[in-house]
Amino acid sequence: MSKYWSKLAKKVEPYVPGEQPQDKKYIKLNTNENPYPPSPKVMKAIKQATNEDLKLYPDPTCEELKATLADYYGLKKSQVFVGNGSDEVLALLFMAFFDADDSILLPEITYSFYPVYANLFNINYNLVQLDKDFSLSLDGFSEPNEGIILPNPNAPTGKYLSLEFIEEILKKNIDEVVIIDEAYIDFGGESAVKLIDKYPNLLVVQTLSKSRALAGLRVGFVFGQEDLMEGLDRIKNSFNSYTLDRLALVGAKEAIKDEEYFQETRSKIIKTRERVSEELRKIGFKVIESKANFIFVSHLRVQAENLFNQLKEKGILVRYFNQPRIENFLRVSIGTDEEMDLLIKTLKEII
Ligand code: PMP
Repeated sequence: MSKYWSKLAKKVEPYVPGEQPQDKKYIKLNTNENPYPPSPKVMKAIKQATNEDLKLYPDPTCEELKATLADYYGLKKSQVFVGNGSDEVLALLFMAFFDADDSILLPEITYSFYPVYANLFNINYNLVQLDKDFSLSLDGFSEPNEGIILPNPNAPTGKYLSLEFIEEILKKNIDEVVIIDEAYIDFGGESAVKLIDKYPNLLVVQTLSKSRALAGLRVGFVFGQEDLMEGLDRIKNSFNSYTLDRLALVGAKEAIKDEEYFQETRSKIIKTRERVSEELRKIGFKVIESKANFIFVSHLRVQAENLFNQLKEKGILVRYFNQPRIENFLRVSIGTDEEMDLLIKTLKEII
């Protein structure tokens, strides 16, 4: 700690991301990246955009990308906001829609960045308890609150909520914003985007980091009614008016347009997830049914921490959370079939 730090810098407990070794020594199944490369059309477009125009500022309002997204999701351009990854979008949402001392609701087990933002902005949070099998029930959302954040599917459990369930939450809390974080929605879930025109309190966050294999490009977005997007623009323009760089703008647009590649890679991941879930169950794992590009697993005899360490020694990185209720679970991202076969073979040797 330095005496020069602000009170805020002294106070915050920053988020600790999963390990990101840069030397490609490991099979990386720890941060839910896509095992397949980005669409070849994305890489070509980024190469072409690597030209002297980089000396010029990018479009501060990201008009073309917003139009592409609006067209793809059946929205108006004014219902779209883009940012540098959904983590940044989420931080802007906290600033635009919650006040210090507000109380928001989060699931008891969820993406651990949410409590970090809440602490950063002095927002209180209450946890909605999960059942034994990590499912949520509607009762938990009746508590008074000034906003709700809910990933669908949830992370790290992979549990999915139906749109009917989400609509009930939206109706019950019509005077508060409800943020649905759909980072993993493309792996088998139904997006709440189609509810945007019906609910003035709905915000749907998505990212190109998972299903579009572009975690390295840092592009995320949020959809909601126009007045909500205007509030976000006010915050963004008081913080960083040039959001996405020129290469990210071009790459993101191509990623959304290459539907064929998107469908092909996401179906492969879903197929692999279902196969691997079955195979792990056969060797004594409890596997929570997942609609994400990861699975949440626990072995009936061998402790998760022990499995994590042994897998790492053998060159396979997965995610272990030393946290109450889930300390005996591992989160395993879905890799290629070859990577997952090696994972299963290695687990069989360990257990
Ligand atoms: N939401 C959830 C639930 C996540 O798991 C992640 C990835 N760690 C993010 C948002 C952020 O993703 P990105 O910033 O890469 O868009």
